[in-house]
Formats: sequence, C-alpha cells, structure tokens
Amino acid sequence: MSNKNKSLLASICSECGNMYEQKYKLEELGHETKELGKVYFKSKIQRCLNCKDYLISLDEYEKLKVYIDDLVSKKLSSFPIVDFISSEETCRLLDIKRNDLKKNQKIKRGYIFSYEIDGKRFFLRKSVEKFKKFGDGRFNLNRVI
Ligand SMILES: [Zn+2]
Repeated sequence: MSNKNKSLLASICSECGNMYEQKYKLEELGHETKELGKVYFKSKIQRCLNCKDYLISLDEYEKLKVYIDDLVSKKLSSFPIVDFISSEETCRLLDIKRNDLKKNQKIKRGYIFSYEIDGKRFFLRKSVEKFKKFGDGRFNLNRVI
C-alpha cells in the first residue's frame, strides 16, 4: 500500500466515516484505563469534523502508556508488602512453571500487577487470584481501600 493511501485511510473517522481535521492539536483528555479509572493527559489529537471523535497520534500514545505505567507503579508502591507474593508462589498459585510466568504474553503486558524490588519481581496476590479466575488480573487500583 502506498503512503498516500495509508494517510487517506488513517484520516477517516471510524465512528461516522467523515474526515478528521488535517492538523493535530493539543488537548487535555480523560483516558479510561483498567488500572486507574480515568487518567488525564495532554495529547496531540485530530478531531473528526463531524462527530468530534478523536485520534491520538502514535508517539503520543506511546508517551501516554509510559505515563500510565509510571502512575500504576507509584500506586503499587503504596501497597503494604504483605499484599505481594514471590514469583515462586505466583507459579504455585497459577499452577505454571517459572518459564511460563516469564514468557506469558498477558503477564508481560501487565495483566498481573507486579512490582520490582532489588531486581526481584513481586506480584500482587489479589491480582494473581483474579488472573487465575478471569485471565485478567487488572482492576481499578484507585478503588482499593
Ligand atoms: Zn466522526
């Protein structure tokens, strides 16, 4: 596919089929996340001329991901240490081998909340249990009392 076609496809709104504005503009947007609920972040976006749906640019999306990961880490660091379990115990709970824990794509992508201390990874017990049940151990960390 030529670059011309790609940019043409990218500028058509997925909601209504109309065109997006050509220029990006900076706006503070609320992004819904599984980990923290709504997170506000200034993003470069293109708005649809018709329905006002928006597209976020890829580099901004990368920045947003880093920003959210950082917020999640900070939040997790405020949890008491007894809420976390070792890799060994996580493997036992999930009934998987150590290698599977490292290779699992979902776990790699943060589907189980974890925190690294001195090069060792610890997993949030509640998140491991949720992962075992539903295949996704994430939940809104701001709603934990
Ligand atoms: Zn639209």
